Amino acid sequence: MKRLVKYLPIIGERQLERIRKEAKPLEGKHIIHINSTYYGGGVAEMLNSLVPLFNDLGINMGWRLLKGSPDFFSITKKFHNALQGEDINLTAMKKKIYLEVNRTNSEITHIAHHDAVIVHDPQPLPLINYYKKTQPWIWRCHIDLSRPNRVLMNYLKTFIERYDKIIISKSTFKHNFKVPQEVIYPSIDPLSTKNIEMADWKVHKYMKKYGCDTDKPIISQISRFDKWKDPLGVIRAFRMIREKVDCRLVLLGSMATDDPEGQKLYEQVLEAAKGDKDIKVINFENDTLVNALQRASAVVIQKSLKEGFGLTVSEALWKKKPVVAMNVGGIHLQIKNGYNGYLVNSEESTARAVVALLKNPKRAEQMGERGHNVVKKNFLITRHLMDYITLLKKHIIHYKV
Ligand code: UDP
Repeated sequence: MKRLVKYLPIIGERQLERIRKEAKPLEGKHIIHINSTYYGGGVAEMLNSLVPLFNDLGINMGWRLLKGSPDFFSITKKFHNALQGEDINLTAMKKKIYLEVNRTNSEITHIAHHDAVIVHDPQPLPLINYYKKTQPWIWRCHIDLSRPNRVLMNYLKTFIERYDKIIISKSTFKHNFKVPQEVIYPSIDPLSTKNIEMADWKVHKYMKKYGCDTDKPIISQISRFDKWKDPLGVIRAFRMIREKVDCRLVLLGSMATDDPEGQKLYEQVLEAAKGDKDIKVINFENDTLVNALQRASAVVIQKSLKEGFGLTVSEALWKKKPVVAMNVGGIHLQIKNGYNGYLVNSEESTARAVVALLKNPKRAEQMGERGHNVVKKNFLITRHLMDYITLLKKHIIHYKV
């Protein structure tokens, strides 16, 4: 069971007491999160830790899922892609299905007695249209909004501007909405199965169990099979790396229930890796495996083309691994180039940075140590908890209908 007190050895007594004290005015309040997937991706990852910790503080926090049809999720994935910069043909039919699913969900989601509603990402965004608003509504967008498609943004703005507050991961994701916007950095849970300390024997056991040979250095990327994570680019970069240093690549991924594009990309990845004995592709959702693979890796790659934040970066840094990642979205918040990893901008520069780290294990180790400290200071769930407490107090206590 998740208990705040278990974080004492990591954050210390003072910080723990501060969280408890600040949370007091929210005791007994009811707060609800709504998103559209219970696994596969960073939102579910964070809610899995935040929600129980809030309940441990005496704040009644719940988490509901938006139930959508395959059609709906295919449309909202197009919205996701367009918010990250792709074109979209925003037809009346797409809008109709988008609204219809939200309307139906409002009929089976009772929220009247809640003191605040937190809606994540575009899928449940229009829910707000179907309620008489008697509490603050917060929209938490986790997507890379650096260059969204204008047409879609103008459409979504009609819902966004009904909210009381917008939360994004980085200040340049702000837009000209008539609603205040605030940055809250995402976080990782150091005590979750995915991040908790793991003995070497267990790491090796898991690598063996999932068929990952550890006879050569391992390079890995752990990400949903999503084109924005560019797994095909990782394979091309890996082949350049292997020309200089003998090593293996492990691509571990899964598919979120709200992403219908995953299967096709997974098949393309399998095809690209076919016959290459140094590349292992695993499609399986298992937190202990993520933990073991990050620990077994010499270097972790995050080759994303767009990225709201990229929890996988902090997860690897926490395990003292240097990360080579594309300089997109929120990744630079976690990596200072040349300090705790490398920020790159192409397959070639990815390959060069990984080779440099493989050839200089001492530097890799030093960067890994620094990375751990960066995460400890900035990106742990306990800081996130505090940010949410501050936000909720501000909105709930002074809320006027
Ligand atoms: N993840 C996982 N198994 C996988 C792929 C990803 O558990 O096979 C997790 C990963 O460890 C991280 C989250 O999914 O906790 C991904 O969050 P991130 O912010 O990196 O990207 P998102 O998927 O939200 O775009």
